[in-house]
Amino acid sequence: MDIGLVWFRQDLRLSDNPALLAACQSCDVVIPLFIDDPNAQSVSQLGAASRVWLHHSLHDLNESLETFDNRLVLAQGDSLEVLTEVSAQVKATRLFWNRCYDPASIKRDKKIKQQLDHLSPKSFNALLIAEPWNTCKADDTPYRVFTPYWNMLSQRLPGDKPQNKPKHIPGLKKSAHQKLSVNCELESLALLPKRDWHIGMMSHWQVGEKAASKQLAQFLKDDVADYSDARNLPWVQGTSRLSPHLHFGEISPRQVMHKLCSKARNMRELSSNEETYAKEIIWREFAYSLLFHFPQTITKPLDTRFADFPWAKNHTKSLRAWQRGQTGVPIVDAGMRELYATGWMHNRVRMIVASYLIKNLLIPWQKGEQWFRDTLVDADLASNVMGWQWAAGSGADAAPYFRIFNPVLQGEKFDANGEYVKRWVPELDSLDKKHIHKPWELAPEIRAQLDYPEPLVDLKESRQQALAAFDTIKSAK
Ligand code: FAD
Repeated sequence: MDIGLVWFRQDLRLSDNPALLAACQSCDVVIPLFIDDPNAQSVSQLGAASRVWLHHSLHDLNESLETFDNRLVLAQGDSLEVLTEVSAQVKATRLFWNRCYDPASIKRDKKIKQQLDHLSPKSFNALLIAEPWNTCKADDTPYRVFTPYWNMLSQRLPGDKPQNKPKHIPGLKKSAHQKLSVNCELESLALLPKRDWHIGMMSHWQVGEKAASKQLAQFLKDDVADYSDARNLPWVQGTSRLSPHLHFGEISPRQVMHKLCSKARNMRELSSNEETYAKEIIWREFAYSLLFHFPQTITKPLDTRFADFPWAKNHTKSLRAWQRGQTGVPIVDAGMRELYATGWMHNRVRMIVASYLIKNLLIPWQKGEQWFRDTLVDADLASNVMGWQWAAGSGADAAPYFRIFNPVLQGEKFDANGEYVKRWVPELDSLDKKHIHKPWELAPEIRAQLDYPEPLVDLKESRQQALAAFDTIKSAK
């Protein structure tokens, strides 16, 4: 009799889950397991908002398993120790998981593969369309620029078909499940914070596999037709908001890509809006490729000249003002408050607040990356690091350093009537179009009534300072 452990990680779904399917096809009993491992980067580094999401996602996964008369084993502790203990207790003969691509998980998984060799561990791809080692250039080096990467990968799209849900997931009897000594209640993982700030945040979301596929269906029905333009406007819901679902694996990029392409016979038949959306999904793949091939970029600039960048020395106060949405620049504050309230921020605004932190406040990008990691429900090591290195001008496919976003012009272009700003910065509700993105141009007596901070820095002067700072490292090798 074969007893298989399926170790769930960033794949919290039943459909298109190759590790689960393989276990169901080859084992008589399948034991689904999730480990909250304080040593593993992929879990311990989850910020507060992501832990809240994880709580709900595990709850949803367990509910889905219960419809198969199975249930999730939840454990806390070192992954290897937990796997060793559970496999001994249930007399497991096989071990299955889907791969992660960050350096800490790769190291951990390699060790587990060696130590638990008697379980013939088998790993699969559930997180990506194409694995990073299969997307290198002809000379076997990784792509560093997105456009050629897209040109290569788009030839292979839509790629492998997603797999169906298993028909049966034969589990342990409920009494045997309860007897497992490592098994704990979801509540005892303490993924939810003691204070109840998460309730408001989660009112913006539906978590889980079914919610993810509903969200995708709705986006493809109502919004994709306008995606290329609407995706830039933070005041409309013009994007799919699938990022947390994709991060936790409640839906796979294969499922997204195949649904997107379901009416087209090949990629050339996609409308230009659909193609733009496909490209965004491939940006995520590109981020994973960069993370895999350049793992040092998690904390260090890929462009080593930036290692000596002269950042502002005392930035505690300005960092705090940025985090709290109190910089005095309306579009920046709106974005930071949206993030704090909902666990998500519009992509255009992510670029604006990142540029402002790095280029106007001269605060190291790593501080912004950390704050995003703690507050985003979609915090994802690969995409977050790529986004921040892009904004800093120090990554693989980075914006040139001298291209500094002007938050006033960005606001006037993408939030012309100030609807987004007014939603998140209600103190500015009474302002007209002319002043909504630059309230400092109002007469002092009107400004005094606004209860809104004066700008932390002058945008023009700080831009000049940033360029001067860049000059000091420009010619370094
Ligand atoms: P849509 O526009 O509907 O796009 C569909 C999917 O494509 C997204 O869900 C996402 O998986 C992927 N995608 C879209 N844009 C990008 C991009 N630029 N890079 C990588 N993948 C992309 N995305 C994260 O998922 N997690 C992060 O931690 C993260 N941090 C970021 C930090 C900065 C500074 C910046 C500039 C961008 C960051 N992004 C991150 C990328 C992007 O902002 C989000 O993926 C997007 O806003 C999610 O919303 P959506 O699902 O509605 O996107």
